[in-house]
Amino acid sequence: MGKKKPDRIKHIPQRTCVGCRMVTSKRSLIRLVKTENGITIDPIGKMAGRGVYLHAFQDCWKKGLKGSIAKGLKTDLSAAELRIINDFMATLPENDGQIIQIDTETNTVDQSSAANKTDL
Ligand SMILES: [Zn+2]
Repeated sequence: MGKKKPDRIKHIPQRTCVGCRMVTSKRSLIRLVKTENGITIDPIGKMAGRGVYLHAFQDCWKKGLKGSIAKGLKTDLSAAELRIINDFMATLPENDGQIIQIDTETNTVDQSSAANKTDL
């Protein structure tokens, strides 16, 4: 698992999810940033401040809340900041079931489309 090496594409920035530690393209992660005004979600990934990256899954955020988010941001999370994170987390799907389902072997022709091949 997680051994795919990008041989062809070299210009996609890679980041590590501080929840599950998976390295993936920056674009598939959510950036959480510590600004002068506190913690916020950075939807475009360009806000000034120290940031950490997480998958859009509650599981990764829960893992991150055990320490790696605070560590990555080099800050102690206040109660208000924890609430911001929890509120955002609540909008996410629970886990990475969608990631695990990456398989290439189940690309079999399903039977309904086989019915179209009447002239074979
Ligand atoms: Zn993750």
